[in-house]
Amino acid sequence: MSTETPLDLKKTVNLPKTAFSQKANLAQTEPARLEKWAKLDLYHLMRQAGEGREKFILHDGPPYANADIHLGTAMNKILKDFIVKSRSMMGYDAPYVPGYDCHGLPIEIHVERALEKKGKKRSDLSRDSFRRACREHAENALKSQTRDFKRLGILGEWDNPYLTMSNHYEAETARMFARFVERGWVYKGARPVYWCIKDQTALAEAEVEYHQHTSPSVYVKFPLESDPAEIDPALAGRKVFVLIWTTTPWTLPANLGITVHPDFEYSAFEHGEEVYIVASDLVEAVAAKCGLGTPKVLARFRGAKLDRLKARHAWLDRTSLLMVGEHVTLGGEADAETELDVSEAQKKSDSKAGTGAVHTAPGHGHDDFVIGKRYGLEIYCPVDNAGRFTPEVEHFAGQRVFDANDKIVEFMRERGVLLFSENYEHRYPHCWRCKNPVIFRATPQWFIAMDQAHSDLVEKDEDGRDRTNYTDNLPENGAASLRGAALEEIERVKWIPGWGVDRMRNMLKGRPDWCVSRQRVWGVNIPVFYCAKCTEAVADPAVINHVADVFEKESGDAWYTHDAKDLMPPGYTCAGCGAQEWTKESDILDVWFDSGTSSIAVLENREELRWPADVYIEGGDQFRGWFNSSLMVGVAAHDRAPYKTVITHGWSLDAQGRAMHKSAGNAIEPDKVIKQSGAETIRLWCASSNYFDDMRGSDEILQRVTDGYRKLRNTARFALGNLYGFEPDRDTVPLEEMEEIDRWALAELERVTRRVLAAYEAYEFHNVYQALFNFATVTLSARYFDIIKDRLYTFAPRNKARRSAQTVLLRIGDALARMIAPILVFTADEIWENLPNRAEPSIHLAQFPSANDDTQDALLSEWERLFAVRDDVLRALEEARVAKLIGSSLEAKVTLEAPGSTLELLQRHQSDLRYLFIVSQVELRPGNDVSINVSVADGEKCERCWNYSTRVGESEAYPTVCERCVAALREIEQG
Ligand SMILES: [Zn+2]
Ligand SMILES: [Zn+2]
Ligand SMILES: [Zn+2]
Repeated sequence: MSTETPLDLKKTVNLPKTAFSQKANLAQTEPARLEKWAKLDLYHLMRQAGEGREKFILHDGPPYANADIHLGTAMNKILKDFIVKSRSMMGYDAPYVPGYDCHGLPIEIHVERALEKKGKKRSDLSRDSFRRACREHAENALKSQTRDFKRLGILGEWDNPYLTMSNHYEAETARMFARFVERGWVYKGARPVYWCIKDQTALAEAEVEYHQHTSPSVYVKFPLESDPAEIDPALAGRKVFVLIWTTTPWTLPANLGITVHPDFEYSAFEHGEEVYIVASDLVEAVAAKCGLGTPKVLARFRGAKLDRLKARHAWLDRTSLLMVGEHVTLGGEADAETELDVSEAQKKSDSKAGTGAVHTAPGHGHDDFVIGKRYGLEIYCPVDNAGRFTPEVEHFAGQRVFDANDKIVEFMRERGVLLFSENYEHRYPHCWRCKNPVIFRATPQWFIAMDQAHSDLVEKDEDGRDRTNYTDNLPENGAASLRGAALEEIERVKWIPGWGVDRMRNMLKGRPDWCVSRQRVWGVNIPVFYCAKCTEAVADPAVINHVADVFEKESGDAWYTHDAKDLMPPGYTCAGCGAQEWTKESDILDVWFDSGTSSIAVLENREELRWPADVYIEGGDQFRGWFNSSLMVGVAAHDRAPYKTVITHGWSLDAQGRAMHKSAGNAIEPDKVIKQSGAETIRLWCASSNYFDDMRGSDEILQRVTDGYRKLRNTARFALGNLYGFEPDRDTVPLEEMEEIDRWALAELERVTRRVLAAYEAYEFHNVYQALFNFATVTLSARYFDIIKDRLYTFAPRNKARRSAQTVLLRIGDALARMIAPILVFTADEIWENLPNRAEPSIHLAQFPSANDDTQDALLSEWERLFAVRDDVLRALEEARVAKLIGSSLEAKVTLEAPGSTLELLQRHQSDLRYLFIVSQVELRPGNDVSINVSVADGEKCERCWNYSTRVGESEAYPTVCERCVAALREIEQG
């Protein structure tokens, strides 16, 4: 019997102890942790740690350096951070060089507005001081974005990001243009392009948005000029008209032809004195729409019959040529223009309007242009930059096209050439910037040919000098075209989700030549000169590369600060006339050309990177944007796609699936969330649902995320708190000496580790989160932790069974921290700091745990069966509690009856059962069925562990405790 003073019982219980607080206080602790990382220079430590490892390159699609970041921008960057950090923890050297897209119209507009506020006009500034103001604006915007991105916990080369406006980048952009010229894919020509009449500039594919728009839909008669007997003898001597349908009456003054499908059947039907030609399938619909009664068909013939016959313009003294084209459909607007999106095209095909005879204005539509070229029509565009009819347009000169629509309809009605008109709702392209409807308009522009065979277009003289006439040189179909090569390349790329390849294929198949010139100022100038004497264009790779070298030293501003002769290589003479005087091209390059160049300007030019990238990840709008322009550049530079994998993420929408707008009051502002609950909330939200679909965000959804965070945090806190006093080197219990339930917990940890690593590998972060969340809340909190609490708290601190549980807790805490680290960057690092003996100063220098191959199936399924019994027991205990038979479960004794193998299983684990059920006593009996009986536990309540035992009072030194506690206290006394 002990002669020493009995211990203070309360002090002998091992209560959890940790500096890892229950309340996260992320809004305060995150900035402190960012400072710690800055002091460590963590990103560069990661680079050092990665040296010599296999590289993994995620190439950053540059956000536009204009506005502040919103939830969508944050999500994009966070997903990238998930990828970079997880690949780094898989053992790759995964550098991250962020970029910024710095040129372009939105910045020009912003600067103009800022000038207006100061009472100044843009014209008060010279071109280069205006550009300086744009540069300054971009610099400020990207500084503020950088601050925001860093605040989100994104690690990267923030002190040296790539900027599309840096000298080197601008030089590389010019060199890339030279490369396209070298391949013979660049030409200057008049082609219809999207044109914003408000901003007075051409727009790229990616710069138009489709919105509902109401247009006048009109059915118009074009009299046949050719002898109708040529079509069918039955029509001899009749007054025949071809009926066209259009929703853009303002393009009718530019009509030069009518296109029919060569293989469709057309009908000529009688209405009074007149005979109308429409596609046979549409006769009924057209007659009904235009109120023509029951049509009497006089002749049927294939569209090919009409080829090269002539009609008269509906009111102008001009021929309208009948042509055949495969693009004609019976579904309405045959001129789908360049509507590239599959979904857009599908929406359109619903329309039932039309006549099967398509009004064709080569200056105002893509298909019109192509067919017009084929038939030798003029690319006629009597509309100026501001969208006004030029003086040659009879009756409507000077009017704006959209205003003229109704007047043209009225005019046609008075002339008797209009059969029917109504308002028509359709998807129509709008300017992304000013949101006004855009027009299709032919203007002289620089193009990159999609279908030109390599260098077919370039003519060289005997000295190898470029003698190409770049003016109006229409490329023809060729085998090894940019389009063909790009289509081949996309099949080698891995698209996630898989539909990406179809979307890209459709986009590539439908896209017209790439118009790369813009009538703006803030960008890289098209480095082309014109002979001052004969106006011949000099688009010579050698000259462009010479200019690029000047850009490299002085930035693209050199185009404005130097005279043409200073930018030309000395002694360069015009191949056309031998003159040596030049003027400079005033257009700049499409900003998509800039950003598309990034794989070359960045991946190839930075030592720590390489070309091609392993992965690009952006929103679905980039199929027409950056995915596309990058592909064009990759093919031009190396005949290869610049990426091996392309991932598409969805949009951030509100809870109802609507776009977020500050003005609509449904926007989640990252700034606010960070101030309230930390960046971790946004990061965890990004992992909480499948980003391949659209991501829903609202205060309520964020609250759920915060709740989830709290559960994960509490799980980590339990592990950390119970590691108090555990020294891994001294106290670790080998696997074979562990309690069985501890080995079960480790087997579960292995299982979740395998799942999580596979999900990271597949970029499925929502599956990472789900797996870890279930592991934390179900496997750990509701099962394992609940069961080992008694052992951790009441056993002597150094008892081997307790050390066994602690050994597992360390493994769990360590593995959880590593596995959650790419997502919860702050919290994982905090867990890391509170774990004993971690080698690396930050978790972001550590690697994922490796999962071993031994799946321990037998152990796991045995415990699955035990937990099934446990679930039944817990239910019975709950009923007993409700019936007021017991209070806490430790007041209970459970008597289990079970048959055969179940009984054997339970008997095998007899000593575990009281802990498993968290009761004081368990009795087993054979029975025919499983039955559970709950009764009041035998004996007295132990003051120390609160279990009931018939042996409380046996010890004289500790008369209020049970036999287990007596043993524990003896162990403690012995030290
Ligand atoms: Zn606009
Ligand atoms: Zn010349
Ligand atoms: Zn006890």
